[in-house]
Amino acid sequence: MLLIQCPWCGPREESEYSYGGEAHILRPENPEAVSDEEWADYLFMRQNPSGRHQEQWSHSAGCRRWFNVERDTNTFKILSVYRPGDPPPEINDGPA
Ligand SMILES: [Zn+2]
Repeated sequence: MLLIQCPWCGPREESEYSYGGEAHILRPENPEAVSDEEWADYLFMRQNPSGRHQEQWSHSAGCRRWFNVERDTNTFKILSVYRPGDPPPEINDGPA
């Protein structure tokens, strides 16, 4: 079971949270001006990387707030947790 650090409540078990998909998906500013293909990309296309991934989580059984998690999809290790609107923290993975 994952232990996730809510930015407001502290560490809680994964069962208290709901996964909200990829983070930093921005709605087009003028939806009427985008093509059907661009709109479909906004709605459905996601990265699904092998490795570092920035995700949205909600503390649905706690404070009910949304926040961002950077997680390694191979190891399930949580690399950072940050509030919406904040940039992802710099992570030093050591020498490349
Ligand atoms: Zn919380």
